[in-house]
Amino acid sequence: RAKESGRDRIQLFTHAMGEEARNKLVRIEELRRAVERDEFVLHYQPQKDIRTGRIIGVEALVRWQHPAEGLLLPGAFIPLAEETGLIVAIGDIVLRKACQQNRNWQDRGLAMLRVAVNVSARQFLERSLTDQVSSALQSAGLDPRWLELELTESLIMRDLEGAIERMRELKQLGVSLAIDDFGTGYSSLSTLRRFPLSRLKIDRSFIADIPHKAGDMAITAAIVSLGRTLELEVVAEGVETEEQAHFLAGAGCEMFQGYLLARPLPPSEVEDLILQMTTQRDGD
Ligand code: C2E
Ligand code: MG
Ligand code: MG
Ligand code: MG
Repeated sequence: RAKESGRDRIQLFTHAMGEEARNKLVRIEELRRAVERDEFVLHYQPQKDIRTGRIIGVEALVRWQHPAEGLLLPGAFIPLAEETGLIVAIGDIVLRKACQQNRNWQDRGLAMLRVAVNVSARQFLERSLTDQVSSALQSAGLDPRWLELELTESLIMRDLEGAIERMRELKQLGVSLAIDDFGTGYSSLSTLRRFPLSRLKIDRSFIADIPHKAGDMAITAAIVSLGRTLELEVVAEGVETEEQAHFLAGAGCEMFQGYLLARPLPPSEVEDLILQMTTQRDGD
């Protein structure tokens, strides 16, 4: 009897594995179709300059408008897109949309904003990235200074020399570069100063427990002063409370992004927020 139930369990197990593999194949097919049909939309999360109180940039965050499941967050499909290489095509779509949207805002006189786009490891390794970026800028007619690319430390550390070369190429185009999720990787001071960067984005995990964790506050303050030493702007991610914003201002952090200001929003809502903040300002 014990043997039998053991066998049943194995059957259940292999059956489940088979199903998981099948689901994955279906997902890959759906993702391929999503690229063909362009089912991706971008939401934009505003970034605020702490000193002036103005919104000076937005981060573009991709969502998949799945025909049956609704709006899916990147965590639900970016890993698979990376694994299958579809991220290269998706990344191209994202770059084009972000540049076009930003140019559209500029043309309509809404604001001059910097739009930040996330670049994944697979995309960064691709030789065509520089061409993709330059083509997206050109077809949108966007001045490169209004585009920023967010890279991660782990992506750079895979092939340090190659990455520095690639970063120089991108920088040559006139775009700016930021390190995303900073503090979670392993870049040393000496490597960091070799990167042609404009900004460090402090990882959300260091901000989350401010003001309750002295260690996180010390790390955050250290990153801000590291930024000052290397003449880089520092942006805090994931700021949810006034206390966190207050601490960051005191520490000399230049910019923040987080639910306290706004969640990632569809373009029309970003526009509303910016207009609202401008009228408030004019009324002061
Ligand atoms: P990320 O680049 O670090 O983006 C920040 C993430 O934190 C976003 O999640 C954002 O919604 C979330 N966030 C922002 N403020 C707060 C806050 O105050 N509290 C909390 N709890 N969360 C906050 P999202 O949109 O789900 O994106 C997750 C990750 O997916 C991004 O992390 C980025 O690594 C990746 N991703 C997003 N869009 C793209 C894309 O177009 N291409 C690539 N390759 N990756 C992308
Ligand atoms: Mg990012
Ligand atoms: Mg981040
Ligand atoms: Mg993150």
